[in-house]
Amino acid sequence: MSDCLFCKIAAGEIPSEAVYEDDQVIVFKDIYPKAAVHLLVVPREHIESLKEMDASRDALMAHMMHLLPKLAEDQGLHNGFRTIINTGPGGGQEIFHLHIHLLGGGRLPGFG
Ligand code: AMP
Ligand code: ZN
Repeated sequence: MSDCLFCKIAAGEIPSEAVYEDDQVIVFKDIYPKAAVHLLVVPREHIESLKEMDASRDALMAHMMHLLPKLAEDQGLHNGFRTIINTGPGGGQEIFHLHIHLLGGGRLPGFG
């Protein structure tokens, strides 16, 4: 996807504050943080959203899930963290390249 912001960030064409990278994912700081720590875990492969998820991506999804608590620890979130995946316009997704928000630090708002 040539005009995808997160593809460009993953390719190094647009700068980001990366905190972790490997062959499958890049993790960088959200530019408009909603908490003291706000990271985005982004697969290098262009996957639009969870709607495109199927068993062929199981290894990638497991990799991202296993990474989350390690990233949180590295960021000093020893007391816990929140993860969010927005899917589609109805879910508040604004960038159509799959990403997991990792938030924590301070007091996070409740859901109601
Ligand atoms: P979503 O609404 O789930 O699609 O989230 C998109 C997130 O990307 C928002 O939290 C934005 O603040 C964040 N964002 C947008 N542009 C950038 C950028 N250039 N670098 C880092 N984060 C960004
Ligand atoms: Zn993309």
